[in-house]
Amino acid sequence: MSDSPDPSRYFDNAATTPLDPRVLREMLPFLEGDFGNAHSLHSFGQRARHAVDLARERVARLIQAEDPSQITFNSGATEGNNTVIRSAGDASVSPFEHSSVRETAELMGFSYLENQGLELLPPCRRPELISLMAVNNEIGTIWNPGTLSRAADAIHSDITQAAGKIPCSLDGIEYATFSAHKFYGPKGIGALYCRSFPPKPLLTGGEQENGIRSGTLNVPGIVGMGGAALLAYDEMDANLAHAQKLRSIILDGLEGLSDWQAQGGQQVSPYILSLSFASIEGETLVVELDRLGFAISSGAACSSRSTEPSHVLTALNLPKTWLRGTVRVSFGRFCSAESAQILSQSIRLVVERLRSMK
Ligand code: PMP
Repeated sequence: MSDSPDPSRYFDNAATTPLDPRVLREMLPFLEGDFGNAHSLHSFGQRARHAVDLARERVARLIQAEDPSQITFNSGATEGNNTVIRSAGDASVSPFEHSSVRETAELMGFSYLENQGLELLPPCRRPELISLMAVNNEIGTIWNPGTLSRAADAIHSDITQAAGKIPCSLDGIEYATFSAHKFYGPKGIGALYCRSFPPKPLLTGGEQENGIRSGTLNVPGIVGMGGAALLAYDEMDANLAHAQKLRSIILDGLEGLSDWQAQGGQQVSPYILSLSFASIEGETLVVELDRLGFAISSGAACSSRSTEPSHVLTALNLPKTWLRGTVRVSFGRFCSAESAQILSQSIRLVVERLRSMK
């Protein structure tokens, strides 16, 4: 492989974030000498166990859980979402959810919540579970799932795009799910928050994680998630201000360009900027910007191979003009203001050039 690309030009932080070097440094001992099984009684095991306990405390603090015992480590939000949705007898899920919620709900024969634009309507019949994400991964819209707590026995919120980025409130929420790699931790590790009613486990066997998630603990991954949670907690305000600044740079740079709009409504995460350009194919814009060394996306990374228009934009009944020409720019700790400036000008130039070729 050639040298790594310039991280300051990486504007696809909603797909994944780079591992913070400080997190890597915390993980390394657990990939080398400290290899013990966290469930072993001897001191090799106890060293791992202590590291896992510390990580659990840090993750709990990040999302404002009352107690670390409410955190179950797993492989990430896809697993957490599957665990919670498959455990329910009956559920209504928002049409804006990630595919790991929607497809699982469809498989289980569950229904969708109705929406009026970005507003979700409480279901007519009270379900056991309602699933509503805290921040949408494509357009950045922020919802407050806890406000639906009277409409169901329990609320599940996929907080993958909120955890470590914006302050989280678990008020009214029974289950929350998220992944470490969205806030500079390693991939393949995540957590399930459960307030008081454990879901049915997806995996059975070793009874680790209080029986909610069997399997030998991924100690380096858990340590990495804990380290990333600590940094995200300590640096949240600075990171938020940085994202806000980058967002303004992109938007200011597009002033004067015709026929474009930002999606997501009034309440959006500063980390996600969804932009629609008339007479443009989103994928073409992504490829052209990649040639200039910039990473942005035409939707969610997990569905970027699909040629279908995004389910999120479709649920919003967006006119066709905007549907195909939408891209997502998502900000992170390592993006630079200078790169944002060049990116904005590049978007503008590429859009104008592609339109002039029609
Ligand atoms: N939910 C949301 C909102 C996401 O953005 C993602 C990642 N794209 C997931 C769930 C799935 O996360 P993972 O692939 O880490 O399981």
